Amino acid sequence: MRSLQSEIEQHGARIFELVDQHPESLFSKAGFYQRMMALSMRDEQFKVQMFRFVDVLPSLRKSGDIVQHLEEYFAGMHNGLAPVIQSGVRVGRFVPWISAFILRRNVSGMARQFIAGKNCADVMKTLRKRHAEKIGFTVDLLGEAVLSEKEADEYAARCLDLLECLVRETQGWTDPLGKDSELFPVLNLSVKISALYSQMNPADPTDAIAHLAPKLRPILRRARELGAFINFDMESYAHKNITLKLFKTTFGEGEFKDWPDAGIVIQAYLRDAEGDLRDLINWGRARGTRFTVRLVKGAYWDYETIKSRQNGWDCPVYFQKPESDVNFEALSRVLLENESIVTAAFGSHNVRSIAHAQALADELGIDRSRFEFQLLYGMAGPIKRALVEMGYRVREYCPVGQLLPGMSYLVRRLLENTSNEGFLRAKFSENVSAAELLRDPKELVRQNRANLPEATIPTIAEDRHPKNGASIESPPGDIYENSPLVNFVYQETQEKMRTALREARNRFGEKYPLVIGGEKVWTDKLTPSVNPSAPKEIVGYVAEAGIPEAERAVKAARAAFDKWSRTPFEERARLLEGAAAIMDRRRYELSALEVFEVGKPWAEADGDIREAIDFCRFYAERMRQIGRPRLTQHVPGEESYQHYWPRGVALVIAPWNFPIAILCGMVSAALVTGNTVIMKPSEQSIVCGAMLMQIFEEAGVPPGVLNFLSGRGSVIGAHLVDHKDVDLIAFTGSREVGLRIWESAGITRPGQRELKHVICEMGGKNPVIIDSDADLDEAIVDSIYSAFGYQGQKCSALSRLILLEENYDRVMERLLSAAGSLRVGNPEEPGMMVGPVIDEAAYKRIQEYIEIGKSEATLAYQAKEVPPEGYFIPPTIFSGVKPNMRIAREEIFGPVLSVIKVRDLDEAFEVANGTDYALTAGFFSRSPADIDRAKAEIEAGNVYINRSCTGAVVGRHPFGGFKMSGGGTKAGGADYLLQFLLPRVVTENVARHGFAPEETPEYRDEFLGPAAR
Ligand SMILES: Cc1cc2nc3c(=O)[nH]c(=O)nc-3n(C[C@H](O)[C@H](O)[C@H](O)COP(=O)(O)OP(=O)(O)OC[C@H]3O[C@@H](n4cnc5c(N)ncnc54)[C@H](O)[C@@H]3O)c2cc1C
Repeated sequence: MRSLQSEIEQHGARIFELVDQHPESLFSKAGFYQRMMALSMRDEQFKVQMFRFVDVLPSLRKSGDIVQHLEEYFAGMHNGLAPVIQSGVRVGRFVPWISAFILRRNVSGMARQFIAGKNCADVMKTLRKRHAEKIGFTVDLLGEAVLSEKEADEYAARCLDLLECLVRETQGWTDPLGKDSELFPVLNLSVKISALYSQMNPADPTDAIAHLAPKLRPILRRARELGAFINFDMESYAHKNITLKLFKTTFGEGEFKDWPDAGIVIQAYLRDAEGDLRDLINWGRARGTRFTVRLVKGAYWDYETIKSRQNGWDCPVYFQKPESDVNFEALSRVLLENESIVTAAFGSHNVRSIAHAQALADELGIDRSRFEFQLLYGMAGPIKRALVEMGYRVREYCPVGQLLPGMSYLVRRLLENTSNEGFLRAKFSENVSAAELLRDPKELVRQNRANLPEATIPTIAEDRHPKNGASIESPPGDIYENSPLVNFVYQETQEKMRTALREARNRFGEKYPLVIGGEKVWTDKLTPSVNPSAPKEIVGYVAEAGIPEAERAVKAARAAFDKWSRTPFEERARLLEGAAAIMDRRRYELSALEVFEVGKPWAEADGDIREAIDFCRFYAERMRQIGRPRLTQHVPGEESYQHYWPRGVALVIAPWNFPIAILCGMVSAALVTGNTVIMKPSEQSIVCGAMLMQIFEEAGVPPGVLNFLSGRGSVIGAHLVDHKDVDLIAFTGSREVGLRIWESAGITRPGQRELKHVICEMGGKNPVIIDSDADLDEAIVDSIYSAFGYQGQKCSALSRLILLEENYDRVMERLLSAAGSLRVGNPEEPGMMVGPVIDEAAYKRIQEYIEIGKSEATLAYQAKEVPPEGYFIPPTIFSGVKPNMRIAREEIFGPVLSVIKVRDLDEAFEVANGTDYALTAGFFSRSPADIDRAKAEIEAGNVYINRSCTGAVVGRHPFGGFKMSGGGTKAGGADYLLQFLLPRVVTENVARHGFAPEETPEYRDEFLGPAAR
């Protein structure tokens, strides 16, 4: 008996033989496309620019804009295409429409390479041709991210229309093999699940299914009546579990339980694909009706790796290409071994993967009429032909739609065709030998492991924590690894959060003391902390400090200072790391508390705890970097060392909107630099403050070094700010209070030793500009999130959306319907986007601003339904806002967005910069020149290009503004700790009678005081 490998080689050789009978380049359409792709494979920089240009082109309306973009993207290039582009630009400057016309035609041609038709009538031309060639079809409607329920409903309606049209046009068509045809209906529609519900949130599968199933049922019903097959495509990993669950739920319902014409995709590049496939098969057996699985490797490899690296998640995909190939083969086996319940559709252009499936089917005695191969329209034509000639069933995946919604599909295909790792490139462009192409991928995995030094093969854990350099040249944020966000895509993490919420609820009403000098202090007053979603619920009570407790805290902090300031910085850094570890352990518990105490949605609450952990670890590392006295300059005969001493007693006053992160950030910076601290949380988040105190106590903070005072800002806050024994004030909060502190701290009181240093971070009136060529799918999603995420109660939140006249109507239409689809409600439920505002006072103040807005501008949108109980403000959008109106100038701190229409970019920048604030700002554009301008001109401490303007990550986005937004400090930045320190230099003449030591050490330790070495 011959081995499977030799059978695979036989099948593969036959395919290659047939392929070679009809030689065709990888790019069946010659000319422009072929040249572009060839160049892209040679020149990485060109590839990036070309993909970006292709991405923006369909959205450009004016010829002049097209020529300008062409110049911006390619002007600096020096390659084979440079002369062509330069002459295009030259012609374009004089007669823009000529170049624009040629470019549009060429790029449309490129898109037509992969998009089978604009609409049903158009695609039928292709389908008829393929039918004649004995190739079947599945049709996919392009248009992926839907921003609103209106767009989702339109997608569902288009699916139904397409079905009706296709059934009319394909009447009388029969199965090409004429055998086992009942398993393979002629009419086959592929559906993108995320296009059916705009608010799909991985944390909330129940909500997603409750919205998706009713939209799907009419499509399934009609498909069944028409004898059509429905396939669920698989998209990014975030949607995978919901898609699988939806499949099992809907096809498990009585109405569809006995319907076999349903399929779903499994992506072999996923590490958990086999578990999912086996689970589906068990489900299928229990259901008792056949179904189909299309096995692919997966189209989102780059996206998944980037996303997981950014968020610190375990990467769900394999890192080595042959690992995906090996898994594809393992899953092919699982599929074919379960042929009695599942029909296999192999979606691959890789001859090895295809030949493996063929050989395995032979080995298992499965007739070739009982499974099929599926390939994409516009790719691997010769392989399709070869498979048909060999008597296999072949189906082509035919995307239908306009160029604009098809762009992300097109870019994925371009990536696939030019990928260094891809089979098509290897076979058709690089002419790799058949023997090489048919090698067992297991061998390649083994070989890769043997060839690469052990250390360079990343494991998942290493990928999550890439090794960062810590040299002076490495970026300052690289000295540590950010803590991962919790990924709520997993059932396990969802369960943990639900359990934590239940447990947090059980602790409602607990009482917490002040902590002064290491002692628990109770006063005769307790402050209740209220759940803003249900104000009758008291989350907890904290003892309320008055002036006597404030005085006691200053004394305790002052008394502890001497020892703490001389404690080695390594020990202080370890205290922070200990606190971080405790927060990590209690992560869900702390997040749950935030959901109740300040109304944060799940992911926002988790982000806050992650940030607190990051602050601790980042500042610990920074302290190690700056802690040792360092030589200032090499000069013979003299040694000068600069080093830092702590300032003294620090008063930390924090806001409620990031109740643990900001408090912890300021406290940990003060502690690690050797200051002693009086920590005063916001009155609205006192339980979070008490919790942070517990954490530092458990981590071993010595008595008096950190003191917890909860009380009224107007009483204890004001008293402490003016206190002669407070040396440093770290404040984050409103402009009103911040400026008062700034002013008051400038007055020197009798007996005061130091000039008070104030670190002051205040609010913003943050603008986002959407340029005329921006990607609206992204710009609107990110603007909505920036404006309404956590109810707009972030100092970084978007509050002024600046739109150019040119695309004002287009943006507004989609923006308003996207806002209308937002989920508003109790954030205890997962996936809620807009929860309550913090308290009654905020509620009233925001309502007043809404009234002001109604009198100044036009109410363009306001949500109608919000929960009757709790401080819920409906997301509100005003249009017709002028820059001088109050709603465009004053910080509202709630879910209220002002839209300002401007003539052009000049005016947009002027408006953006025209307030008292300079905290965050956003700019959406695909014009390199406009992006450069935004980078240079926008006045804000944090400028974000083509992404949301909230969500700063420690070390990555040092955060803080200027003008009336702050004193120019950067929390989470490399130089933040310097704010808490006094620099000192000691210079010693080391020459004696003209003789000096030759070597001067880079670092010395003696200036830290005896205990500090
Ligand atoms: C009919 C059809 C339908 C499809 N439907 C879907 C769908 O619903 N969802 C979906 O996601 N994709 C889908 N695809 C796209 C498909 O995922 C890609 O076309 C496919 O992955 C290319 O694989 P290949 O076997 O043709 O080529 P190969 O060249 O053998 O494989 C390329 C693939 O290997 C994987 N890969 C690349 N680099 C690495 C690496 N460093 N480490 C590990 N793996 C790597 C990627 O998945 C890449 O696409 C479909 C494809 C077809 C043909």
